[in-house]
Amino acid sequence: MFIFFYGKRRARIKTAISSYEHTCEYCKSNDMRVKVYQTYIHIFWIPFFPVGSKDAEIKCAKCNSPKWNDFIMKKYEASTRTPFYLYTWMLLIPLFIGLIAYICEQNAQHTREYFAKPQVGDLYEMKNPGNGRIVYFNMKITAIKNDSIRFRLEEAAFADNVEYIFLAHDLRKMRDSGLIVQIDRE
Ligand SMILES: [Zn+2]
Repeated sequence: MFIFFYGKRRARIKTAISSYEHTCEYCKSNDMRVKVYQTYIHIFWIPFFPVGSKDAEIKCAKCNSPKWNDFIMKKYEASTRTPFYLYTWMLLIPLFIGLIAYICEQNAQHTREYFAKPQVGDLYEMKNPGNGRIVYFNMKITAIKNDSIRFRLEEAAFADNVEYIFLAHDLRKMRDSGLIVQIDRE
């Protein structure tokens, strides 16, 4: 079963030391740390895109007391850039689409080449749009003699001696009507 897993997560996008800008109200230390967070939507833990505003958090490094200073928090929130990795899916999606388009084009090119010069062993992925329900099946070339090509049906449901002979011009008609989906060669 495929589970589509997504949700919200918070990423720490900056850690800074803000010493000397202010002191801890409790222990008077100057060692104040600023962390800036950004919430993002993830799909399978891979960031999709950021949501909401950035949140700065100031804490004393010694006693861990938080400090609320809107001016400094806003200053850090404004100066922190949203890192591009929070858009990872957005970057990956066009890459995936490009890759799939490339693979499809390669397959189409091979199919054209193999169709033009058939060889024994070529595997034809065929479809038969019969009775409103498209049936897919595979045929393998077992012999080529002049213009006639002998195929064996590569389906486990049938005995392996089911063979068909097609003439080249019949195959061209089948291709032109889209019945030959793809041709593979080992
Ligand atoms: Zn402190």
